[in-house]
Amino acid sequence: MATRKRILITGAAGFLGSHLCDRFIKEDFHVIAMDNLITGDLRNIEHLFKLENFEFYNHDVSTFVYVSGELDYILHFASPASPIDYLKIPIQTLKVGSLGTHNLLGLAKHKNARMLIASTSEIYGDPSVNPQPEEYWGNVNTVGPRGVYDEAKRFQESITMAYHTFHGLETRIVRIFNTYGPRMRLNDGRVLPAFIGQAIRGEDLTVFGDGSQTRSFCYVDDLIEGIYRLLFSDYALPMNIGNPSEITIKEFGEEIIKLTGTSQKMVYKDLPTDDPKQRRPDITKARAILGWEPKVSREEGLKITYDYFKSLPQDVIEKVEHKDFTTYNK
Ligand code: UDP
Repeated sequence: MATRKRILITGAAGFLGSHLCDRFIKEDFHVIAMDNLITGDLRNIEHLFKLENFEFYNHDVSTFVYVSGELDYILHFASPASPIDYLKIPIQTLKVGSLGTHNLLGLAKHKNARMLIASTSEIYGDPSVNPQPEEYWGNVNTVGPRGVYDEAKRFQESITMAYHTFHGLETRIVRIFNTYGPRMRLNDGRVLPAFIGQAIRGEDLTVFGDGSQTRSFCYVDDLIEGIYRLLFSDYALPMNIGNPSEITIKEFGEEIIKLTGTSQKMVYKDLPTDDPKQRRPDITKARAILGWEPKVSREEGLKITYDYFKSLPQDVIEKVEHKDFTTYNK
């Protein structure tokens, strides 16, 4: 019997990390999952605990990381990733993107493992070109409220490329655009769980600004497929993975109202500081190099995600820590 390939997934109890655990278990890998549970939730991976090819460590990768035995791959997905989270825990956000990445690159070098890091469309900041190709350098405010995330991720890309060029480490960099699906946290402050949560609770939908800013939402299964293909490609430069179907936040609110049948309306609040006005991935490279493009329409993906949120226990649906995160910027 061939021995299983071994993969370390950080941020394993989070939204994307848990879907990656599922995918690599399905592909018959031995999955070593790690998370410090600061924003992750063990309920996302509890169904895997009974498996002999799954192990979990409650560990903060910003401190020294070690796993025994061989390691073939590392996926670094540990990080707060919603504006509310990184405004609440800015230092941890900076540390996991910088110190955490450095620790994991060291581990990858020691084990001769291939490492893929989760970068983000946030490295483009408030972009002055639309759609954003990988060659665009970005427009980021280093000291703004989003700077702790954006700059940590920009540093993460730099140090990863340095390990690639200087140490010859096999590395992959995925720039992830807005992604949604089951296991998103209902109270993470992002627009999709915010709107769906508000609709379920019978509250008005809070649109920030005039709602003319755009985003492009990718269903989680499509994203995971793109990451999977990137990992096994031989492409070391950053690659955008996201859905190029762009929509204004106001139109998005209208879609959620239609989907949920809520009788509530949209109310308008202040736009948070440095909120990007437009965002849409140029996925020319992913199409050409990975033969990848998204398959799930927003209509289909939103329906699945709405059903997931509706199935959550009532106390989870009611528990909203931050109804309005624009106040963070005051
Ligand atoms: N947004 C909104 N209402 C909310 C939460 C967010 O209008 O309750 C807006 C936010 O200002 C931004 C967009 O929706 O323009 C997407 O925000 P999100 O926090 O989901 O992610 P971002 O893409 O900004 O990182």
